[in-house]
Amino acid sequence: MTLRLFNTLSREVEPFTPLAPPRVALYTCGPTVWNYAHIGNFRTFVFEDVLRRYLEYAGHEVVHVMNLTDVDDRTIKAAGTAGVPLATHTARYVDAFFEDCDYLRLERATHYPRATAHIAQMVALVARLLERGVAYRGEDGSVYFAIDRFPAYGRLSRVERRDLKAGARVSSDEYAKEDARDFVLWKAARPEDEQAGAAWDAPFGRGRPGWHLECSAMSQHYLGDTLDIHAGGVDLIFPHHEDEIAQSEAATGRPFVRYWVHGEFLLVEGTKMSKRYGNFLTVRDLREDGWNAAALRYLFASTQYRKQLNFTDEALKAADAGTQRLAEVRRRLAASPPGAGTPFGPLAAELGHAFTAAMDDDLDTPRALAALMDFVRAANAVLDTGGGEAGDRAQALAALDGAAGVLQVLGAEAQTLRVSADAVLRSPPGPAGSALEPPRPGQDVAAWATSMAGERQAARMRKDWPRADLARKLLAEQGFEVRDTRDGVELLPRKRPAT
Ligand SMILES: [Zn+2]
Repeated sequence: MTLRLFNTLSREVEPFTPLAPPRVALYTCGPTVWNYAHIGNFRTFVFEDVLRRYLEYAGHEVVHVMNLTDVDDRTIKAAGTAGVPLATHTARYVDAFFEDCDYLRLERATHYPRATAHIAQMVALVARLLERGVAYRGEDGSVYFAIDRFPAYGRLSRVERRDLKAGARVSSDEYAKEDARDFVLWKAARPEDEQAGAAWDAPFGRGRPGWHLECSAMSQHYLGDTLDIHAGGVDLIFPHHEDEIAQSEAATGRPFVRYWVHGEFLLVEGTKMSKRYGNFLTVRDLREDGWNAAALRYLFASTQYRKQLNFTDEALKAADAGTQRLAEVRRRLAASPPGAGTPFGPLAAELGHAFTAAMDDDLDTPRALAALMDFVRAANAVLDTGGGEAGDRAQALAALDGAAGVLQVLGAEAQTLRVSADAVLRSPPGPAGSALEPPRPGQDVAAWATSMAGERQAARMRKDWPRADLARKLLAEQGFEVRDTRDGVELLPRKRPAT
């Protein structure tokens, strides 16, 4: 079996083969850095991350480009409202975006080109389109793409050709299907653009690029004329991706994208997210509420990317419980002594097969999660009977880490340990005076942390505050923050510094 993906262009699930294996050229539309991205945006970015990680899991070498739109209608307007230069305004949200990416464990793209750093490539692309006669300069000084000069226009979004209003023009970056007109490539500079520092010289007049142009110019610069996969949210199919195709193919005469892959919307408590409904959620809201990113990724994975996902607090709690079960079985596997019972080998093989079969089927992540949970049940049953040989255990851990790593629903350094009050009381190992030490090389960190939480609790009961404080410090050095709860102690992963 090989990976099969739903291609929006053909509206069919097709086997995926890269143009020049093992390299896969992947382009994903990045954030418009005018404000914080919301979790709907991040559902798309997480689905793209899962796609990329699965391609790598399957042995491909992915060159991944994600653009940062730091000049368009919205960024300029937001900078104007804030009364700061465009670059100052967007820098803040670029930083915020990367913080959110790190929290959500998104693998860094190979390149993150910024639109304002690639104006020369955009000017060259407009010049080429003018030369080829598919673009023209309007009387307003802006340059437009003539959709009646590109017969394939509308193929991706299946907009009716008779609805195309050739010759009529639209200059905003976003517009509806009913408004399929000649679209803007290069916008003549307005006073507010000059004021924001968002205007550049070009042979066809001073101005700035349209949003669609940015992706065509930068994808070509980094990945060449033909991309293997172009991904984004369904809301980008029209006009953004339709216009990207028109610009790129009219300029190069070659197919622009071989597989168009689109992720569906996220709803919050059953409605479309909007500031107006007060259900506008950002990733930092969830982070500040103390949610582990694995829970959010588990929740996202529980719905296939082509279906709408309903985000609810209940669903997030259930997802969090799932990540705990995975973390727990991993701890048990890593810590258990070799036994002579049932070997883990067949369980590892079964997980590998079931996971691959699910993911090959158009990234069926709900089924992939089910495979992981089947493994959890089976492995726990073996562990309960004290079974498993050392070699088999390593195999089981590798299978678990491989599958859970693609989805990022578990992670040693980011897991929350919940230690019950009972376990805390049972676990202080040494006498009161024994030295507290960091984990030895090779020691299971989770087991060490549990005993250290016990040490801290025992010291507190004796009112030995310096010792309790030392235990807390040692835990902090290992990345754990201690939180006392009614039921015991929680060891929370501390934020890792941004890289
Ligand atoms: Zn784009």
